[in-house]
Amino acid sequence: PAVIVAIDGPSGTGKSSTSKAVAAQLGLSYLDTGAQYRAITWWMVSNGIDTDDAHAVAAAADKPEILSGTDPARPTITVDGVDVSGPIRTQEVTSRVSAVSAVPEIRTRITELQRTIAASAGTGIVVEGRDIGTTVLPDADLKIFLTASPEARAARRSGELKGADVHTTREALIRRDAADSSRKASPLAKAGDAVEVDTTDLTLPQVIECVVTLVEE
Ligand code: C5P
Repeated sequence: PAVIVAIDGPSGTGKSSTSKAVAAQLGLSYLDTGAQYRAITWWMVSNGIDTDDAHAVAAAADKPEILSGTDPARPTITVDGVDVSGPIRTQEVTSRVSAVSAVPEIRTRITELQRTIAASAGTGIVVEGRDIGTTVLPDADLKIFLTASPEARAARRSGELKGADVHTTREALIRRDAADSSRKASPLAKAGDAVEVDTTDLTLPQVIECVVTLVEE
């Protein structure tokens, strides 16, 4: 039977790098659910929808077609056939994605996509996000919850953003995690049966090895 691995946690914990590497190493598919929320947010912004207007966002929730490519060596994301892997990483999308993700109609739509993709993954899939273990795939074979100190998370994120100020990054990151953790509809949370891995003092290869070992157990 297919192996389902759920990896949740806040931003800057190494979730994406870990999930991709674990999937590649074990020959599994990979799904970045944050990219899906970013893609639908990008579509809202591109179509002039006020992302702070939950009614407007809900009314448009079913409009864009979102497709995710699940090869961990080359993950892709398109909206209505357009490759948006670059545009979904802009500061504008990053600052608006929490508001869009908090709208229940958006979560219902994206959760459905995620379950369909997971159900059709041949040997199995590593799915990374915020609510995978709690809501999207509560029957996952293994649930991991990655954490790290705010300092470590901000340092990693500003490293990725090349030259971005660590303090500004830290503030933005804390604000986004607070919004993601406090929303009503399936917030960022650790599932009761998830294994928590604190990555603060671990290198990426160490985190990957730790998760691979847990999958193989
Ligand atoms: O992982 P990433 O930082 O790309 O996620 C972007 C945003 O998408 C998160 O801050 C959160 O608002 C939303 N998200 C979510 N549920 C998920 C994955 C991401 O609400 N499973």
